Amino acid sequence: MSTISIPVTKNAHPKLPTFNMNEIAFGKNFTDHMLVADYENGEWKNVEIKPYAPFEVDPSSAMLHYGQTIFEGIKAFKNDKEDVVIFRPDQNFKRFNISAERMEMPTIPEWIFMEGMKQLINLEKDWIPNKPDASLYIRPFMIATDPFLGVRPSLTYKFMIILGPSGPYFAAPMKIYIEQHYTRATPGGVGFAKNGGNYGASLHPVTLAQKNGYDQVLWTDALEHKFVEEVGMMNVMFVIDGKIITPTVERGTVLKGVTRDSAITLLREMGYEVEERFLSVAEIVDAHKKGLFQEVFGVGTAAVVSYISKLAHGEYVMDFDMNALIVGPALKKQLNDLRMGNIVDKHNWLLHI
Ligand SMILES: *Cc1c(COP(=O)(O)O)cnc(C)c1O
Repeated sequence: MSTISIPVTKNAHPKLPTFNMNEIAFGKNFTDHMLVADYENGEWKNVEIKPYAPFEVDPSSAMLHYGQTIFEGIKAFKNDKEDVVIFRPDQNFKRFNISAERMEMPTIPEWIFMEGMKQLINLEKDWIPNKPDASLYIRPFMIATDPFLGVRPSLTYKFMIILGPSGPYFAAPMKIYIEQHYTRATPGGVGFAKNGGNYGASLHPVTLAQKNGYDQVLWTDALEHKFVEEVGMMNVMFVIDGKIITPTVERGTVLKGVTRDSAITLLREMGYEVEERFLSVAEIVDAHKKGLFQEVFGVGTAAVVSYISKLAHGEYVMDFDMNALIVGPALKKQLNDLRMGNIVDKHNWLLHI
């Protein structure tokens, strides 16, 4: 990878000196600088770091109309020794280009994504909270910018990285409704890509679930609503009779989470048997009736591990005792210890800045 130095224009009015690090809400506050690159005439150019600011968009811009837009979500941490680490960003880089190809967008060269991210974070180091569970959220994204209303792949794009301090992320245990009507992803569709439309399309079913007293939905397969897939914007893991089962990604309808992949590796190292396979709602309900369904939790970058206290399938409600959880908390501790540098990073998952 090249170590090209990216030009920087410093923000003349930085917010950091007066910013209250004790009041950070996820997704609301952004740092003083951002990375920007333009795609034109078949190549990426104008890579630069500049003051975070709104920018002009032509009203006919392709991304506003047809959804050619993709993103990633990554976190940087500061440990007790003030070392800055990013958790497995190489995986996000690869997935970003998989999303780009599915949406017929240009792939981004590794140096722009990785060097751009490193140099931006280096500049914004003081924005990284060094409290347990707090982090700097990294949002790389790409948008189609052609001022043209024809439906065809845009010829111009913008790639950007913005950063926002986040957490300590306290997530209350979630009440989940098993979705039997709406669909997040279909075979042959775009479920494996992090493109904007997937998330817009989930808002209505999730809002309906919230009106009925639930926090999120457990998505099931589009064809029969028989097999479980994901919970909200997270991958999902079930503990049944001491074994961990997580839905297979083989149909392309389940996003391949970096946390999911890390969790599978860590859980196996902790001695658990982990199965990646189709898991039906019928099997879950049956296990619950037999008293074998022990835990269910979501895994993803934002909340790491999100516990589920209630899972409902129509009238059938499954409750979980939050004081009896074993696997979820053990996994959360393992992932957090690793990210904070408290245990040896034997897989080389941490990128040190
Ligand atoms: C981002 C995302 C996840 C989690 O992926 P991580 O890489 O672990 O953050 C899971 N499901 C969906 C739909 C997502 O968008």
